[in-house]
Amino acid sequence: SKAKLFDQNTDVKTSFKDVAGLEGAKEEVQEIVDFLKQPEKYTSLGGKIPKGALLVGPPGTGKTLLAKAVAGEAKVPFFSLSGSDFVEMFVGVGASRVRDLFKQAKEKSPSIIFIDEIDAIGRARGKNNFSGSNDERENTLNQLLTEMDGFGTNTNVIVVAATNRADVLDKALMRAGRFDRQIYVDLPDVRERKEIFEVHLRPLKKVAEELDTEFLAKQTPGFSGADIANVCNEAALIAARKGNKAVGKQDFLDAVDRIVGGLEKKNKIIT
Ligand code: ATP
Repeated sequence: SKAKLFDQNTDVKTSFKDVAGLEGAKEEVQEIVDFLKQPEKYTSLGGKIPKGALLVGPPGTGKTLLAKAVAGEAKVPFFSLSGSDFVEMFVGVGASRVRDLFKQAKEKSPSIIFIDEIDAIGRARGKNNFSGSNDERENTLNQLLTEMDGFGTNTNVIVVAATNRADVLDKALMRAGRFDRQIYVDLPDVRERKEIFEVHLRPLKKVAEELDTEFLAKQTPGFSGADIANVCNEAALIAARKGNKAVGKQDFLDAVDRIVGGLEKKNKIIT
């Protein structure tokens, strides 16, 4: 079977309304939306529009969601691929895939390229990665750098990449004119968790009226947005299994217990 080269979405429905909390990060990416919508306004005095931004933060905190919302807000096509897909790639495929991706994105510009888990491609060069495919990874990284350097001033393609390991990235990626902007996407605090609950309660058909999202937020310290989305979904399934007419407080608490159990298991494997 032939792996898909990359994903392309020309009609992104995600908007900033779907991203709860993350006020600072949203403010920073709003600038990217403006660059994509009105490039002339920004280049009129000779300034150059940035080519790349790096979203840095723990897993499940909404980096992919935020990048997609930028495309949705700017109404531009969203091209995406994941760095981890490169790990099992045959020799020569990585670089040509990057080349194709940029070619397509330029043809459809203004557009966004999103590279998830960029650390899989962008680890510092010349270090062992034990996978035996170092050359292939380096070729892919070099192609990425070449493509970004080759952007003309009016290319109007912005590359957004995400990682939870900014410390392992090759410094060449962060050089001026590449991913020179870093935007932090942290785990949500209690107030943000309340907002994330509110977003993810929306699609649930029936939620008991007394449901207190502030209480739920207090019950879920350390949870990411993805964990909270998971809790809401589990709660709906738990309530449905019981044959209940609405999703209630106890269903959420049971769902939280289940997710906490899952997180503990995951952490046991790591330590
Ligand atoms: P990873 O590093 O694992 O790729 P990520 O930071 O890219 O994770 P997303 O894939 O964007 O995280 O988040 C997964 C899901 O979690 C989202 O599709 C969304 O349902 C939910 N989610 C995460 N953060 C938020 C948020 N701030 N507001 C609303 N939903 C969120």
